[in-house]
Amino acid sequence: MNREGTTLYPCDLCASEDLAEVPSSKHYSGGWPLHVCRQCGFAQVALRRPPEAIQKDWADELYRADDGQRLSNATYTARMPAVHARQVFAADFLNEAVDLKGKSVVDIGAGEGHFLAMLQGPEFGAAGFAIEPSAANGELLKNLGIEAFQGTMEDYAAAPEASGRRFDVATLIWTLENCQSALGVLKAAAGILNDGGHILVATGSRILVPFKKPLQYYFGDNMDIHPFHFSANSLKGLLAVAGFETSHENRHIDSDYLVLVGRKAAGTDVPWQGDEAEKVLDFFERWHQDTQANFKEA
Ligand SMILES: [Zn+2]
Repeated sequence: MNREGTTLYPCDLCASEDLAEVPSSKHYSGGWPLHVCRQCGFAQVALRRPPEAIQKDWADELYRADDGQRLSNATYTARMPAVHARQVFAADFLNEAVDLKGKSVVDIGAGEGHFLAMLQGPEFGAAGFAIEPSAANGELLKNLGIEAFQGTMEDYAAAPEASGRRFDVATLIWTLENCQSALGVLKAAAGILNDGGHILVATGSRILVPFKKPLQYYFGDNMDIHPFHFSANSLKGLLAVAGFETSHENRHIDSDYLVLVGRKAAGTDVPWQGDEAEKVLDFFERWHQDTQANFKEA
């Protein structure tokens, strides 16, 4: 992958420039490091290309699923069984936390719209709104009868039609790890929620839990497409700085998912703790050793 024009960004959570490289990440990514913030322990790909280059990758490569292709073999589409399963988990978890019936829900990075269509259906009974940058997905959303804005969360926050409109719930499912700034998106989301409103963040990036896959399947040569690697503590930290108090978290120690629900806390600073950088670095070193000892490919 062409890495021209990359910039070293400060920590997205605490803004520190004191970042340590994870040595093993470069082993699997062709030399493109994952960084750990020495101040707050947040793992992130700090060396990133301009947003336009990353968005082009998404549009050109990642959304393409040829007709007739077996869904189980597709690179990515929300119709894949594994993606459908995790969306059902996120919907159930959210509904248990906030009771969706009659609530207005904005899905940020709504993709092909299957998640919102589920939330709008008879089981959950919410009123959905989609924020989605892809025009091709915009067509799919329209076909599903979902009201949509074409653009990013930040675009929507600045758009005239957002003025005065507030939602009960915002959802980010397997999206926040791919944003240009996770904190920026969460802050913008807080701005379009009612006081006391809730946010759901569901992700598969998990740190400081048992290893789930060999590292060659975790790191690749497209590091800045998924720049943010969350632990429960770093995600709670991002939510806190954006003005959310974590109200619900799933049992992530033995699940493939990390799912948090936060409540918009009006007017008070929410405390947070982050992770110890040395523990995060040691976690990756042990994962690397395990991969090399047991899952090394020829
Ligand atoms: Zn930091």
